[in-house]
Amino acid sequence: MSLDYRALGLKSGLEIHQQLDTTEKLFCGCPTLLRDTKESNFEFFRYLRPTQSEMGVVDRAALEEMKLTKKFIYKAYDTTCLVENDEEPPREINSEAVDCALVIARMLNMNIVDELYTMRKIVIDGSNTSGFQRTGLIATGGCIDSSAGRVRIDVLCLEEEAAQKVEDRGDSVIYSLDRLGIPLVEIGTAPDIVSPAHAREVAEKLGMILRSTGKVKRGLGTIRQDINISIAEGARVEIKGVQELDLIETIVEREALRQAELLEIKKELNKRKATVSDKIIDVTTVFEGTISKVILKALKGGAVYAVNLPGFEGLVGKEIQPGRRLGTEFSDRAKKSGVGGIFHTDELPNYGITEDEVNSLRKAVGAQANDCVVMVADSREKSKGAMEAVITRAKEALEIVPEETRRALPDGNSAYMRPLPGAARMYPETDVPPVEITAERIGSIKLPELIEERIPRYMKQFNLNEELAGQIARSGNFVMFESIMRQVPNVNANVVVRTLETVLYDLEKEGAKISNIKEIHLIALFRLHAEGKLPNEAVSGVLKLIAGKPELTLEKALGMLGIGVVETGELEAAIDRVIESRTDFIKEKGISSVGPLMGVVMKELRGKVSGKEISRLLTEKISKYLETFK
Ligand SMILES: [Zn+2]
Repeated sequence: MSLDYRALGLKSGLEIHQQLDTTEKLFCGCPTLLRDTKESNFEFFRYLRPTQSEMGVVDRAALEEMKLTKKFIYKAYDTTCLVENDEEPPREINSEAVDCALVIARMLNMNIVDELYTMRKIVIDGSNTSGFQRTGLIATGGCIDSSAGRVRIDVLCLEEEAAQKVEDRGDSVIYSLDRLGIPLVEIGTAPDIVSPAHAREVAEKLGMILRSTGKVKRGLGTIRQDINISIAEGARVEIKGVQELDLIETIVEREALRQAELLEIKKELNKRKATVSDKIIDVTTVFEGTISKVILKALKGGAVYAVNLPGFEGLVGKEIQPGRRLGTEFSDRAKKSGVGGIFHTDELPNYGITEDEVNSLRKAVGAQANDCVVMVADSREKSKGAMEAVITRAKEALEIVPEETRRALPDGNSAYMRPLPGAARMYPETDVPPVEITAERIGSIKLPELIEERIPRYMKQFNLNEELAGQIARSGNFVMFESIMRQVPNVNANVVVRTLETVLYDLEKEGAKISNIKEIHLIALFRLHAEGKLPNEAVSGVLKLIAGKPELTLEKALGMLGIGVVETGELEAAIDRVIESRTDFIKEKGISSVGPLMGVVMKELRGKVSGKEISRLLTEKISKYLETFK
């Protein structure tokens, strides 16, 4: 189903979170390195609960989180310090990160602040040991151009990354501290996006601009998008945690669809004069002889509760997104009370619940033909909470599309997370001094070349095809590539790109520690290659050896692999020997004898010299030899 997004009044805005590739974290000197949780050398725990005075008027989203007191367990490393543990005050803000953020602000045509103030934003999900996230406003009022007109960029903030959630055990959550404090830019666009395809285009363009700086982290999880979406009669909904660009279009599409379908349901409910009963009814006796496993399990010490929704029949089971119904929305809310899910009569009999039981259920709550009954089976406390949540959501269905924060699902649908928070309350971070951003500092910013400009330049300057030029221009290795091309005369750009982008990648997949391979190794390697002294086939093996033993010089590594660097004299001598022993063959075949003799020479030198170099010298020498017979 394709919707007319203009007619629907679709509006969408993006909030992009991109990790910066700085050496140190935002408020301490620890490296911005991700670790394996198995390497954690110490753990501690906290209970977080905001006090009334800190929260002011308690936010509705915070309130919902606070219902659940959780224990937070943190995994620390030898690469984290007391700042991450919140046992030492933060250091001054990392100026490398500030410079990065300033470059991005300039690229987005934004107005940069005179002074950078670090603020505290309350977080109570445990993702920060301190109970707040430090954030600073860098710039406002920018824009980028797009096929559907100008998209305003409202804000750019420099923030600390949250700790990574490792495991949620229900009553406790485990976090890893390696990611906490990595610098992050948050870029928020105005709701100027008008269609799903437009959302993707804007996200792609912002991503391209960010990567053009060469100063952002790469890979899954290093860039995350939150998407705000509303349609004219609907409500603002924020969908969090989109990591794949490919999903953005579907998410906007599916959310517009969800809101449109909820509005259709509302219209029909109002037409039917539907209502919601506030009465939660204990219907446990209806299921005394049940064979339904789910209910049997719950009945051990629990109960079955039900609520009647007059006029809702057929609409609770109505699809609002592929595979998701109004009933799924009820269920998402109910699950917050700890139940596994709910049942409703639009989908019954099913799950071992018989038709007789359904009839008795309807009778027990006084349901009429046009009504839908929702029920849940669990402990009394959880069941009651679940039914209250269903009543609230059902009442909303009569009136509005609720404002919500939702979680992106892998198929492009979304599920309820919590109410949309009010405007974030900020408090000054008194431990971090403000930083003046001088006109000089802004004036000295060098704007990087955009990737979309870099690609055609590489094609022209280095004679690369579009695919390879695009590959290296988009890669974080582009700086290394340019450095090699500058320092190694006559190097083949195709080989350099393949080595940086494919060979190294494959080696890393095999488990080689490619961070050990330094520019100095690569320069030496490409010099030899350019001189024809290192065959293509040997490149991967040499790099693999160096990754394991970074102290080796390239020459030593070659020696260990038996790739003796063949001196020109040695090669000439080998070729002379081959020519001398096959003079009859050469006289008979003339210059076309080069091909068959290539193999003979290569065999003699056992892959130590590139075929190109052998071919060049062999052709030269055979031509000379043939000259003498003319
Ligand atoms: Zn630290």
